[in-house]
Amino acid sequence: MTDETTYRLRLPGPTAVPEAVRQAIARPALSHRGREFTAILRRVEELIQPVLGTRQPVLFFASSGTGMMEAALVNILAPGERVLVAVNGQFGERFAAIAQALGAQVDALEIQWGRAVAAGEVERRIDAAEYRGVVIVHNESSTGVVSDLAAIGAVLRGRPTLLVADSVSGLGGMAMRQDEWGVDVVVSASQKALMCPPGLGLVSISEKAWKVAGRADRLPRFYWDFRKAMAAMEKPDQPETPFTTPVSLVAGLCEALEMIHREGLPHVLARHRRLSAALRAGCAALGLRPYGQADALSSTVVALEVPGGLDGGEIVRALYERHGTVIAGSRNKLAGRVIRIGTMGHVSAGDILTDLWHLEATLRELGQTVSAGAGVAAAAAVLQ
Ligand SMILES: *Cc1c(COP(=O)(O)O)cnc(C)c1O
Repeated sequence: MTDETTYRLRLPGPTAVPEAVRQAIARPALSHRGREFTAILRRVEELIQPVLGTRQPVLFFASSGTGMMEAALVNILAPGERVLVAVNGQFGERFAAIAQALGAQVDALEIQWGRAVAAGEVERRIDAAEYRGVVIVHNESSTGVVSDLAAIGAVLRGRPTLLVADSVSGLGGMAMRQDEWGVDVVVSASQKALMCPPGLGLVSISEKAWKVAGRADRLPRFYWDFRKAMAAMEKPDQPETPFTTPVSLVAGLCEALEMIHREGLPHVLARHRRLSAALRAGCAALGLRPYGQADALSSTVVALEVPGGLDGGEIVRALYERHGTVIAGSRNKLAGRVIRIGTMGHVSAGDILTDLWHLEATLRELGQTVSAGAGVAAAAAVLQ
C-alpha cells in the first residue's frame, strides 16, 4: 500500500471503528468495580437487550468470538453429552472442532457450503437422537449465508434440547429476536456489526438454558463459568463482572449502541440490507456473481464468485496494494474461488461505491474487460 492511499478496512470483521467510538475508548480508564463503570455496564446491557431481542441478562467477557463459542459449550454440556453442530461453512467447522476438543459427543449436520441450515434437516436429526444442544451459525461469514433461526427455534420448542447460535457476524446488522425465536444461547463479539475493536465477547442465555448451565455436572469451567458472571451481573445496585473487564471496550460498545439506537435499530437493519444488495448488484455488473443460496444471502457480508481464470487472492492483494482497500479472500474449500467484503457496522453508501470503483480498476488491472462505471451505476440504481 502506498502512503497516499487511505487504509480502508472492508473486511467481514474486524470492521472500521467510528470516530465517536474511538473517542469513548480513549477516555481515562475506570475502576472495573467503581460507580462510573458499573453505570456504563448497566447502560450497555439495557441498550444491547433490544438488539438481541431479549429481556435476559447479558454477560460480558474479555474474549474474541471463539472464546464465547467455547464458553457456551462448557456451560451447557456435561462430559460425554451429545451435541449436534450444523456445518455449512468455516465457523460451523470451528464450532464442531471446539466441541470435539472438549470431549463432547459431536454429530455434524453437514450441509453443502453456501446453503443455509434447513429447519427440516435439524428436525430429522433431533428426532433420531437425543441432543443436549443444537449449534447453528446464524450468519456464516465464510459463505455469506444466513440460517433461519426462527424456523429452527420453532422445531426445538417444547423439547429439552437447547438452541445455541453464533451471531458474531450478525448481531447489530441483522435481526435477532432471541426470546421470540426461542434461541437459548446467543454468542457474539465486539468487532463485527457492533463497530468496536476486537476483544469483548458477550452472551445472552434463556431461562431454559440457565437451568442447564446452573448444574454442577457441566464441563470443567472457571473463567467461563456463567454462574459466576451471572451472580456478579445481578448484584442489585452495582452490576459487575467477576474478573477485570476490558473497561475501555465496554465504554466503546456503549457509544456504538447509542449510535445504533439514535439511527434506530430498524433503520440500521434496513441500511445493512440496502447496502449489501447494492454491493451485490454492483459486483454482478462487474462480472462477480454472489456466492451462495439466493434466498438466504447475508446483509452483513457479501461473498462473491471469482470469474474463471482469476485467483481471488490476486484481487484481494491488488485491492490492498493499489487502493488501500482491505477485503477478505477465503480459506480451505473456497480458497481462490470466493472473495468477501464486509457490509456490517459503520458502512455508508459512499463506502460501497468506493469499493466498486476500486474493484473495477483492480479487475481491469488484472486483465478483465469491464465497462467504465458499470459497478457504481448498478449499485446507484439500487441505492436510489
Ligand atoms: C468472526 C466470527 C467468529 C469469531 O471469531 P474470532 O476471531 O474468535 O472473534 C465466530 N463466528 C463467526 C460466524 C464469525 O464471523
